[in-house]
Amino acid sequence: MTPAKKPAAGASRNPKRDVSRDPKDYCIATIGSHSALQILKGARDEGVPNLAICKRGTEGVYKSFGVADEILIVDDWSEWDKKVEPELLKRNAIIIPHGSFISNMGHAKVQNMKAMYYGTKEILEWESNRTMERKWLLDADILMPRVFEKPEDIDCPVIVKFHGAGGGFGYFVVRNAEQFYEVKNRKYPEENDFTIQEYIIGVPLYIHYFFSPIIGELEIMSFDKRYESNADSIGRIKAEDQLAAKIHTSYTIVGNIPIVVRESMLPEFFAMGERVIAASRRLHNTTTGGKLTKGLFGPFCLETIVTRKLQTFVFEISARIVAGTNPFIEGSPYTALKYDVPMSTGRRIARDIKQAIEGGKLEKVLG
Ligand code: ATP
Repeated sequence: MTPAKKPAAGASRNPKRDVSRDPKDYCIATIGSHSALQILKGARDEGVPNLAICKRGTEGVYKSFGVADEILIVDDWSEWDKKVEPELLKRNAIIIPHGSFISNMGHAKVQNMKAMYYGTKEILEWESNRTMERKWLLDADILMPRVFEKPEDIDCPVIVKFHGAGGGFGYFVVRNAEQFYEVKNRKYPEENDFTIQEYIIGVPLYIHYFFSPIIGELEIMSFDKRYESNADSIGRIKAEDQLAAKIHTSYTIVGNIPIVVRESMLPEFFAMGERVIAASRRLHNTTTGGKLTKGLFGPFCLETIVTRKLQTFVFEISARIVAGTNPFIEGSPYTALKYDVPMSTGRRIARDIKQAIEGGKLEKVLG
């Protein structure tokens, strides 16, 4: 590991926390995967030191692109408490959570982490719990696909989602209970933890938001759609060949493709983001006995399907940076309108942290 540029004193929680107003006394840290490249570059662009925590064998990427000030290598994520956390505390590091960070750490570990953490920790639990997530989004008056309690209730095309299925693997589409049991019993006889959701016919659209508690403003950063295997390749062969090959649709994510939306849809998208934030504060108050009011802030994403009637159905929320923001390391058409520098979501996070530090308001952005 290369030495810290400016290590802060003390091995436990650093006393400089929330005292120093110099961003150089802090460090933005993240796990090397998912959206780490833009998070690290964003920190550097904003003048905040950064640290990449890499599983051995992946560090070459972060060296090659030259975006990491420091790289800390671990052999296994179980080394986090003993090896990583002390280094984070020593550097006054602020962890930026992303999809790989959460799947590597798990929610319980995130809750107990002593290092500073950007975002509201409790919200990660809501988004991973389909019941809480649904309650939250419905409370925000968001249109969602219907959910069927049992296969016998299916009365329209549905998508069956197994919990914990990495990247949409194994999801299948059926139209009735008979088809459901045929696929389920043949392919997934052991799997009993699933959701049956109305299949919405339309185009997928992932809306990337950012809400800064420092300036109190909601921004739309960008939009993407996913490049999924094999859903995005099935159309390359004709229908009769698809049937002959007995292809089952899967949604394994491989990459992300930028999108610019019809401008007339923007007012509704802003309104949806505002309502989701407002509902998160209400829910936060009920789950924390009114003690905490931060709710959702920082980057988040509404994962939607837009129908031909231009109805926007949200099937999932990600309450953190999503990899769909990766095409916009140099900014998006939307951030180009607002900023005079290339503004990625990673950089926007770093700017929020920098402004919080300089304004003596760091607690406002920590979970
Ligand atoms: P994530 O990594 O975001 O948790 P996931 O693996 O849980 O993803 P989803 O994002 O839920 O998978 O869905 C995978 C694919 O299925 C996406 O292409 C999405 O567009 C499609 N999809 C999901 N729900 C629906 C729905 N209700 N109707 C139509 N398509 C859907």
